[in-house]
Amino acid sequence: MKRPIIGISPDLARVAAPHGETDRLFLNLDYAQCIIAAGGQPVVLPPVAAPEDLLNSVDALLLTGGGDVAPSRYGATNLHPETYGISDLRDEFEIALIHAALERHLPLLAICRGLQILNVALGGTLLQHIPDDRPGSLEHRQQLLGIPSGDTAHPVVVHPGSLLARIVGEGILQVNSYHHQAVDKVAPNAVVSAVAPDGIVEAFELPQYDFVLAVQWHPERLCAHHPPHRALFTALVQAATRSRASGTVHS
Ligand code: MN
Repeated sequence: MKRPIIGISPDLARVAAPHGETDRLFLNLDYAQCIIAAGGQPVVLPPVAAPEDLLNSVDALLLTGGGDVAPSRYGATNLHPETYGISDLRDEFEIALIHAALERHLPLLAICRGLQILNVALGGTLLQHIPDDRPGSLEHRQQLLGIPSGDTAHPVVVHPGSLLARIVGEGILQVNSYHHQAVDKVAPNAVVSAVAPDGIVEAFELPQYDFVLAVQWHPERLCAHHPPHRALFTALVQAATRSRASGTVHS
């Protein structure tokens, strides 16, 4: 059987190259590796193509990590000194991609920055810097705590009855943590499905769709050795298979 195609929105940066500065796509390979291991076919979606055209050839969408969303996108008039890595091209592209994907009821898994841009696209807001905006919170940048990549850093509580709970189980889940921003106001129609012990939103979903799930952690760094995190990719690929079978996406 043909593998369902999972479109991945990559990171983007302006880099110095021998022939001068150039805009370049970046994708951590583990995103693609987790999708392949789950039975899907990853394809990279360049942010210079029309979202509608790109979505004609995918069965599901994966939004990845990266720099911060421009605060002006969610109505903030200040730019926190720790806010970094803003790309207007990426913000613009992903917001359009999200709306086009939801219009088609495509399955969507949003990771880290993906969760944040999804919340913003749907009308929510972000905390620009957790240590300043929520003093006393956990340190959500595990690299500052010396916790190795590939290890988990803090627990979250997964809410019973959620899509997330059906995938990873309800109750305590150990996750990794590489973010300094987080959800402030949750978007209308979004339902929080996991929180950290300090109250930081770690996952939300859109129950009116078959499969729209956002997580603040990085399951792609855990999928090889942590079954609940692998299950997120399996669930995405299964949802993509259902979407393809329903025939509403493309033939
Ligand atoms: Mn965290």
